[in-house]
Amino acid sequence: MKVIRRSWCEIDLSKIIANYNCYKKQLLKDIEIIPVVKADAYGHGAVKVASCLQKENVKNFAVSNISEAIELRESHINGQILILGYTPIDQAEKLVKYNLTQTLLSEKYAQDLLDSKLKIRCQFAIDTGMNRIGIDVEDLGKCEYIIRKIANSTLILDGIFTHLCVADMPSENQFTKQQINMFKEIVNCIDDLKLPYIHCLNSAGGLWYKDEVSHFARLGIILYGLKPDYNNQLPKEINPVLEWKSVISMIKNVFPGESVGYGRTYVAKKEMRVATIPTGYADGYNRLLSNKGYVLIHGKKAPILGRICMDQFMVDVSSIPEAREYEEVVLIGKSGKKEFTADDMANMIGTIGYEIICGISKRVPRIYI
Ligand SMILES: *Cc1c(COP(=O)(O)O)cnc(C)c1O
Repeated sequence: MKVIRRSWCEIDLSKIIANYNCYKKQLLKDIEIIPVVKADAYGHGAVKVASCLQKENVKNFAVSNISEAIELRESHINGQILILGYTPIDQAEKLVKYNLTQTLLSEKYAQDLLDSKLKIRCQFAIDTGMNRIGIDVEDLGKCEYIIRKIANSTLILDGIFTHLCVADMPSENQFTKQQINMFKEIVNCIDDLKLPYIHCLNSAGGLWYKDEVSHFARLGIILYGLKPDYNNQLPKEINPVLEWKSVISMIKNVFPGESVGYGRTYVAKKEMRVATIPTGYADGYNRLLSNKGYVLIHGKKAPILGRICMDQFMVDVSSIPEAREYEEVVLIGKSGKKEFTADDMANMIGTIGYEIICGISKRVPRIYI
């Protein structure tokens, strides 16, 4: 397919492998990685990412929902596919048909799946303090009772896991340790069940918490080369996998007193050279970047002027006289000596890199290089 050079992402799958290998080295020796490829692998293409990891002998993957799981199965991903979130009970037959592993969200949810009388592979979520999903670990006896009940039922219980909610914040170190300790307690209680999947680490947890309880790390954001939190420091060999590019569709001069874009929120004080970029919020280019963000052209910053439109926005190229129509513009990525990451963009508008990369819309083709 010939790529239409309007707005596109370039994805370097060799960096997925490099990030995976680098992260693996940081873990305790026997911890295996479960790549998290939910939300179309954080916008990178789940089938492409999972396929390249499968070639590296990765045998477990995690997704958010059953549609994502079926997409992987139908694309010949053979190992365990763990659905981390809610699957409507009426889809239970599909869990069996595609040999998927369903997270048990609560005691009620487990019972409802049990009532289907299907032999569904599953893992119990344990709530150690996030209050999102899972059975409450505080009442250890009850927690153990529920796990044993399911382990001895027609459901196939493969494991239990919990989720750390502040592992990326050094100041919350005590809370994370407490979460891991509570998880360890329940793991000890059910040790005799010999469940093969025991895990509590996300990207941040695997880097900064060394404890033998977790046999797996569920690796999401760092696989894609971004930081769980903007203040985190990642190993140097971890690099962003995705670059987002567009072009200059036209250049014009704007004179003092003239305004740029909807709402006339930018007014020129001097004569300026203004370039239009054919990417907008319908492509996932966040409108909060209006009058705030910048793009890179010829290794230089071109600040955004006025509001981001649905399909276009304008930047100041007054100080980039060499800029020409149809030339490439870097929205996220490297240009010359400069780099602007999804984390940088997110930090500018008060969100996280995760949201930026997941938000790049379907309309933006992904090119694999
Ligand atoms: C999304 C998710 C992960 C991955 O988190 P990262 O911070 O991207 O590593 C791990 N576990 C669960 C349960 C998740 O929902």
